[in-house]
Amino acid sequence: MSSYIHDTISYLKQSSPAQTEFYQATEEVLSSLKSLLDRNPKYQKHNIIQRIVEPERQILFRVAWIDDRGQVQVNKGYRIEFNSALGPYKGGLRFHPNVTAGTIKFLGFEQIFKNSLTGLAIGGAKGGSNFDPKGKSDNEIMRFCQSFMTELFRHIGATIDVPAGDIGVGGREIGYLYGQYKRLTGRYEGVLTGKGLNWGGSLARTEATGYGAVYFAQNMLAERGDSLEGKVCAVSGSGNVSIYTVEKLYQVGAKPVTISDSNGMIYDERGIDLNLLKQVKEVERARLTRYVELCPGAVYTPIENYPAGRNGVWSVPCDAAFPSATQNEVSDEDAAELLKNGCICISEGANMPSSAGAIDKFLASGIAYGPAKAANAGGVATSQLEMSQNASMIQWSFEEVDAKLKRIMENIYHTASETAREYGSPGNLVLGANIAGFRKVADAMIDQGVV
Ligand code: NAP
Repeated sequence: MSSYIHDTISYLKQSSPAQTEFYQATEEVLSSLKSLLDRNPKYQKHNIIQRIVEPERQILFRVAWIDDRGQVQVNKGYRIEFNSALGPYKGGLRFHPNVTAGTIKFLGFEQIFKNSLTGLAIGGAKGGSNFDPKGKSDNEIMRFCQSFMTELFRHIGATIDVPAGDIGVGGREIGYLYGQYKRLTGRYEGVLTGKGLNWGGSLARTEATGYGAVYFAQNMLAERGDSLEGKVCAVSGSGNVSIYTVEKLYQVGAKPVTISDSNGMIYDERGIDLNLLKQVKEVERARLTRYVELCPGAVYTPIENYPAGRNGVWSVPCDAAFPSATQNEVSDEDAAELLKNGCICISEGANMPSSAGAIDKFLASGIAYGPAKAANAGGVATSQLEMSQNASMIQWSFEEVDAKLKRIMENIYHTASETAREYGSPGNLVLGANIAGFRKVADAMIDQGVV
């Protein structure tokens, strides 16, 4: 690591204390950039590294709302507008009790390079709250979303900042947020993505992240003369990304055998029952224990029974793994277990799901490893397609959007793969994705001057 990068990380640790996930994300990106910086002194001359790790704007706000018992509740709200060199700020909102400023910062930082890799005109941002939607009534969710938007609306707009969903924010929440934005501003515009299909949403947006992660895996395997057909796959999580990863895996002839949530996991050697999964998660909004009630052949393991320090999903022998739940869900030990059991492909649907040690193991093994910012970029790319449709007031068919998504994932794969080769590390898509994503943003920042 060059001293310029090392000094930047030390400075961050001092100036932004206790943001460990943010340090993890910055170290992963910056440590990939050494050869790029050596070949291009202009980036250091313009002090791009120190500028890019500092968000352009961080909005922190109070979200007060009233629960069903009439009690006043208070949560923290965040929107971190990280970088607008390539276009309006774009990135999801996460509602989860463990959200901190450090979480939103790591997600926003990753988003800059992910959005750059899509080749579309979008800057990077992220937001959210430590609000826990679990166990809340629809009315509580609505009151919370309305209060959240009552502050957020003044900072966003169709060409300024366009939030989307993430963990805990799906179609229902986007609906309530959009309704309040419209009420406050009187404007019917594409200010959020992931909208309902009859009020401005794009076909295939719901499916996009999961489908995209599978397309990315297909591209990685195709270059190795292999495919997903007939492969046994482990998928973690059971939310939006996981459900549509499972769906696409079946469509390409693979067999997903696991899903999980924060309480436990399901293993079914016959393959996960996709219709039942959608019924339990999208209709009933129930836990996975409900899935086993309705599918007795499936095996449920609660997290208390996972091997110590490990995620049970990654102990299931598989050919390909799709981490699709949350950050740091694949530990060094999980990575070793996956490799020991013969896994040859990892495609990350979740953001930063693998620990730094796990990434090192995957790269050293030479298996196909698709890092999050490349493999899960299909979601944000399709959000941008939603923005394009909103701006031109037309709606494309599912097939049109899906075909564009497929092409975008193929382009991202080739960009990352060719950049890795150009910088002397063929097959290292972490390095390739980081350099390619960074270079475009950095060049735009230089062109736009010191702002
Ligand atoms: P989601 O629909 O809310 O589902 C999240 C899933 O992950 C749930 O099954 C949840 O289980 C599980 N989970 C969350 N936190 C967990 C934890 N701390 N430990 C264990 N399990 C946990 O969210 P999503 O949209 O699918 O997002 C999943 C991941 O994909 C996130 O990393 C997100 O940033 C990333 N991503 C999403 C998109 C998108 O378009 N939605 C795009 C790019 C990347 P519980 O129900 O028990 O909480």
